[in-house]
Amino acid sequence: MNGFEFRRSLEERLRAVAGEDAFWEAGHLLTYLEKNPGADLDKLLRRRCEGEPLQYVLGEWEFFGLPFVTDRRALIPRPDTELLCEIALSFLKGGERVLDLCCGSGCIGIALAKNRAIELVSADISLDALSLTGENASRNKVTLKTVQSDLFSGIEGAFDLIVSNPPYLSGPEMRHLERSLSFEPGIALDGGEDGLDFYRRIRCEYPSFLKKKGALLLEIGASQEKAVCELFEGAQCRYDYGNRPRAIIVRQYD
Ligand code: GLN
Repeated sequence: MNGFEFRRSLEERLRAVAGEDAFWEAGHLLTYLEKNPGADLDKLLRRRCEGEPLQYVLGEWEFFGLPFVTDRRALIPRPDTELLCEIALSFLKGGERVLDLCCGSGCIGIALAKNRAIELVSADISLDALSLTGENASRNKVTLKTVQSDLFSGIEGAFDLIVSNPPYLSGPEMRHLERSLSFEPGIALDGGEDGLDFYRRIRCEYPSFLKKKGALLLEIGASQEKAVCELFEGAQCRYDYGNRPRAIIVRQYD
């Protein structure tokens, strides 16, 4: 079988589970096999065909052009979230103190620390997530401090930038999760009945952790623009490349 036929055969085997993404997934699988010649292809395909997302099956995924370890300890880094990094970098010159709240795999903070000389604190309630963040920091040769914290409960001091992709799925969304999402930690997705629990708590708690002229930057779900903007006075919304509301910016001016 030549390379082309091999890719086609992978694509066919992925078709049932990946649908129109089968061609794209076969490409990722091929790249992975080239880098890991000893990999057990049948085992990888079996896991994928049982519905586990490709990113977990491969155990690594790119975010903001950087390599990240991906497994079930935290959410898969998503391209939508790269928008938060782009906005954050437009605020950062170097020397700032930055908090990545609900850091999960650590991808947002690590992408920032890779591009600017910042002092980074990455916080999550989940020790599993923090261990993954630590691995990803080493993988990307980034220095950060991890803190186990239920939102701000374990956080000390004030920050120039607080960035967060908190859990924001609603009760109905959690009850009808698509199969691939059911492999991701529920604690990282579940935003309470209306999906806004974490935004409400952040709204109450963030002011004492933000320096003067600092910024708060939050990822939101595509239907949450109005509700989150109502919670945060003066908030601005930015849209992602799929033209969906995706990021909320709150500036502190005094
Ligand atoms: N972006 C994820 C989704 O659409 C949710 C991420 C989150 O809750 N922070 O399923």
